[in-house]
Amino acid sequence: MDIRVGILTAPKIEFEQKEHTFVLKDVRIGIGFHWDRKEDQEFAGTLEIKPTPNPSPKGGEPWEVAINTIDLEDYLCSVISSEMNANSPMELLKAHAVISRSWAIRAMQKPNHEGFDVCADDHCQRYEGLRRMNERAVEAVRATRGQVLMYNNEICDCRYYKCCGGRTEIWRTCWEDIDVPYIQSVQCDYCDMSRLPSAVSRHILRLVLNDYDQETKDFRDWQVTYTDEELDEIVNSKHPGIGHVIALEPLHRGASGRIDMLRIVGSERTDVIGKELNIRYTLSRKCLYSSWFDVKHENGAWTLQGHGWGHGAGLCQIGAAVMASEGKTYEEILSYYYHNTQLMILSPKGHDYLTKSHLDD
Ligand SMILES: [Zn+2]
Ligand SMILES: [Zn+2]
Repeated sequence: MDIRVGILTAPKIEFEQKEHTFVLKDVRIGIGFHWDRKEDQEFAGTLEIKPTPNPSPKGGEPWEVAINTIDLEDYLCSVISSEMNANSPMELLKAHAVISRSWAIRAMQKPNHEGFDVCADDHCQRYEGLRRMNERAVEAVRATRGQVLMYNNEICDCRYYKCCGGRTEIWRTCWEDIDVPYIQSVQCDYCDMSRLPSAVSRHILRLVLNDYDQETKDFRDWQVTYTDEELDEIVNSKHPGIGHVIALEPLHRGASGRIDMLRIVGSERTDVIGKELNIRYTLSRKCLYSSWFDVKHENGAWTLQGHGWGHGAGLCQIGAAVMASEGKTYEEILSYYYHNTQLMILSPKGHDYLTKSHLDD
């Protein structure tokens, strides 16, 4: 099974052909997030270059997109290497291989993009080519080859994020107004690093986060402070003409505490915004860690006191890492974050499913 991955470079694609691979220059990663940056990346498979209909954020010429066609299992080896540190516990890598595979197959059935199945960035799943590829990630993908998570005979849309902040979120806080039965709100004490000795928590963070993610500190309980002028500038850059910000009023919160509807009272206008990601973009130059926060306004300064990193629906990567380091299996990790799901193996033909226990017999 092949997957087509779209890779954005800015604004024109430069590449170097090697014997069996190609190198793309200045690939953008973390687009729009606080770790946004560029780097050269190397890929296997085939390469096709096309203009993308989305112009750059600043307008102007349309960008080009590099489309890399590659075997799904090889794609997963790179995704697991890109999302997770090579030294992560094996059960965490295996859990991640299963959810990344399930997610990717769903995305291939219903692509979010025009012209390719998934993009290479955090919007879909991080896919950073061969240079970050590591043997343990490859081992985890091989050990779970073809395994997907299923609910009611459908492959699960396995969402995940860095850290829930203490409680996981439900689907409708982040996306469509539907109930996704396997995405329930669960209490997660695993990602509470304060209950672990600091040497252990530092060790786990080093294992789970890639180098550039380790620049992000204190994400379980965080605080952001703006002066009145700063917040006015940020909010008006996203909602022009709203004027001086007078109040930020959470109108609705999801099951974890993440705000999915926020009223911004401005001197010129009042806007109501949602859902969680839009709120995170609106209240930050790049993107807030999460929309789970309380607002304080005193002495000409705004303080957002928040919890968690990411949308919070599905698997908590930090929590799952702690579970794995405490000896939980990948099956236990998956059933903790995705309720009443079954682990199945895609048959080689790809259209019917065999239960894992059946295959193990
Ligand atoms: Zn995408
Ligand atoms: Zn958690």
